[in-house]
Amino acid sequence: MTKFEPKLFRLVYFSKISPAVRSRLPANVRSIQTVAQHRNRAVGVTGLLIAADGFFAQALEGDQNAVEETFSRIAKDLRHSLPAVVMQHSVPSRIFGGWSMSARQLSAEDSYIIQRLEERGGFNPALLNGESLLSLLSSVGTVHRARFDRQQKRVAYI
Ligand code: FAD
Repeated sequence: MTKFEPKLFRLVYFSKISPAVRSRLPANVRSIQTVAQHRNRAVGVTGLLIAADGFFAQALEGDQNAVEETFSRIAKDLRHSLPAVVMQHSVPSRIFGGWSMSARQLSAEDSYIIQRLEERGGFNPALLNGESLLSLLSSVGTVHRARFDRQQKRVAYI
């Protein structure tokens, strides 16, 4: 049964990856994820981050104050710019509950998603509404569930 959490909140945003980060994207995504997993775990925030076509998109879930405080830190980070919140509201349950922060740079392995996006003109989150961006993040979470579970186990033993 899904655990009921009072004041559970979800925020979804996208942003433009800064040029310096784009040139070393895999290493940057790993280092963002490592910090995010530790900090989020301490405050009960969970979520998923993806990077593709020059954009980040991320979902954050948890207590409203914790999500807003985390996002205000993220929004000031110079590794990306122009963060645009496309969804923020109370929710009855988590979608990314197992992961303090899962992360993925979309690659050839994600062709099923990339194809869907290409039909809409590529990964331009500005053309997606909040529901479509959440649905994209959720699909990535479903397809890579086993991989994200392993990422989460590794962090538990650091
Ligand atoms: P410090 O580590 O003290 O750094 C101060 C500032 O320097 C930060 O605000 C940041 O703007 C900048 N900074 C830090 N490291 C680098 C670097 N390697 N290169 C360039 N600038 C840097 N943090 C979370 O806690 N949870 C998340 O879910 C999360 N998701 C993120 C998603 C994205 C797309 C990005 C870019 C960052 C994310 N972060 C996340 C990291 C977050 O922005 C902060 O860097 C981190 O939380 C540490 O916060 P701090 O105030 O202790 O900053």
